[in-house]
Amino acid sequence: MQKLNYDHQSAWTYTSNYEQQSPIAFSQKDQQLGDLWQLDTAALTLGHLRNQVAVIGRQFYCEDQASLVLNGRSWSLLRFHIHDGAEHVLDGHRAAAELHFVCQNEAGATMVLALFAEASPTAPDQFAGLLAPEPKLAADWLQQALHQQTKVVTYTGTLTTPPILGPVTWLLFPKTIALSPADLALFKADYPDNHRACQPLAGRSIIQHPLQLT
Ligand SMILES: [Zn+2]
Repeated sequence: MQKLNYDHQSAWTYTSNYEQQSPIAFSQKDQQLGDLWQLDTAALTLGHLRNQVAVIGRQFYCEDQASLVLNGRSWSLLRFHIHDGAEHVLDGHRAAAELHFVCQNEAGATMVLALFAEASPTAPDQFAGLLAPEPKLAADWLQQALHQQTKVVTYTGTLTTPPILGPVTWLLFPKTIALSPADLALFKADYPDNHRACQPLAGRSIIQHPLQLT
């Protein structure tokens, strides 16, 4: 399948004319401090996954009705995917990879959880099974990754692949997750450098909330 060409992003065709797009680059000084947010991950197990290769890259659909509760509101986890080279740039730094977990609520609103990863030689290999024909990842991988976080950064933007739909509520978890060099090499081999260029901030608010996880 012909995948989206990240070397020629200006040639992407999309119907959205949403002006406040994603990803973005920002620093600590751009962030306002918000109130405490509560995130309940008890039902956020990955379980049975279905692997589907699409124009926008490989997607992992979560078949077991995983969900999270953010500040009392429930969101279903629909799918996730991996970007080789982070899309969001924090304090001038692009992490080695960014994982996007796409969620939807009952009203049809979209929210994406973004986790950033860096290579660590002491991290165990965890992702070889995910990229196999029958995708497998530890059921509690996402719960474990989220429970390392103490804050979350939010802003409103769009999806980062055509048709660049918005609005999307972004939840960026700034503490990077340590992954093995072999896992990061798998991501690169699967779809190298699939990260969209940063888009204008266009006056948007970026809010950092302290996080209470259960
Ligand atoms: Zn993505």
